[in-house]
Amino acid sequence: LTNADRAMYRAKQLGRNTLQYHDGVVSNSVDLPLSEQEELRQAIVSNQLFLLYQPQVDVATGRIAGLEALVRWNHPTKGIVPPVKFIPLAEETGLIVPLGLWVLNEACRQARAWQDMGLTPLTIAVNVSPKQFADPDFACHVAEAIDSHRLSAHWLELEVTESVIMQDAARALSMMLSLRALGVRLSIDDFGSGYSSLAALKTFPFDRLKMDRSLVEALPADKTAVAIALAVISLAQTLKLSVLAEGVETDAQLEFLRHAGCEEAQGYRFSKPVAPEEIGVMLLARGA
Ligand code: C2E
Ligand code: CA
Ligand code: CA
Ligand code: CA
Repeated sequence: LTNADRAMYRAKQLGRNTLQYHDGVVSNSVDLPLSEQEELRQAIVSNQLFLLYQPQVDVATGRIAGLEALVRWNHPTKGIVPPVKFIPLAEETGLIVPLGLWVLNEACRQARAWQDMGLTPLTIAVNVSPKQFADPDFACHVAEAIDSHRLSAHWLELEVTESVIMQDAARALSMMLSLRALGVRLSIDDFGSGYSSLAALKTFPFDRLKMDRSLVEALPADKTAVAIALAVISLAQTLKLSVLAEGVETDAQLEFLRHAGCEEAQGYRFSKPVAPEEIGVMLLARGA
């Protein structure tokens, strides 16, 4: 696709969403949700979004093995807005499709920039919402993002939650197979936070399981939390998935996870999500 095609695609997405909104809501022109949606649409096209990156650390060696890209909105009057405040609106309105496309391309651009600085490549994990995953063109967009930034596909990991699979399992599976064929990695995010089913893990071609923060939080004092965490780690091992624990904040949690055989960890114990410049400094410090 040329840049013009991409711009056209984006314009179509935005147009479609505006229509969706008008179809769904009948109210006056000073309706607050409309202005919020319009603001978010503006944010996407006028570069108000940016990404922070949170290290994913190899538990055995302490080295940074990957980074998760997390979106923020630099709002003209409200300042930095966290994703919980706008991802739900983006999902509802369909703006998540162009937003997600921006995130994907920006993460690939940054990965290329780090590689050009001579840093050893790392996995970059990008969050993908159910609506993006349901877009038949999604695999195509992923292929384009990788190609246009001359990245090797295995450095890109896509994080999906179980809701992606629940809606249309057959379609989700075929999308996953297309993505795997490109060589990108797939992880199941927030595992253990809600409906997580064992069937989904067995049936779908994931590479990695991300254990939800809610399972990590009560470790290692709470006996039930310990039992569940051990069960999840052992399940992942049986299914040959690597395991990453989310929301690791304390040394005690990290020690527990290390002994339990959890391979990677992410959380404030290591670093909060930070700007790419700061990641560059961390990577240089690790001697890569
Ligand atoms: P998530 O994918 O589960 O991302 C992890 C969230 O936990 C991040 O919040 C991160 O800052 C936070 N976190 C990391 N370590 C710790 C810790 O040790 N303790 C605590 N209490 N929290 C920790 P953030 O950045 O606010 O993102 C929230 C959610 O927004 C993400 O949850 C993800 O579902 C969504 N999100 C973020 N960026 C994107 C994106 O580009 N696309 C989509 N579709 N969703 C995104
Ligand atoms: Ca995630
Ligand atoms: Ca998560
Ligand atoms: Ca989460």
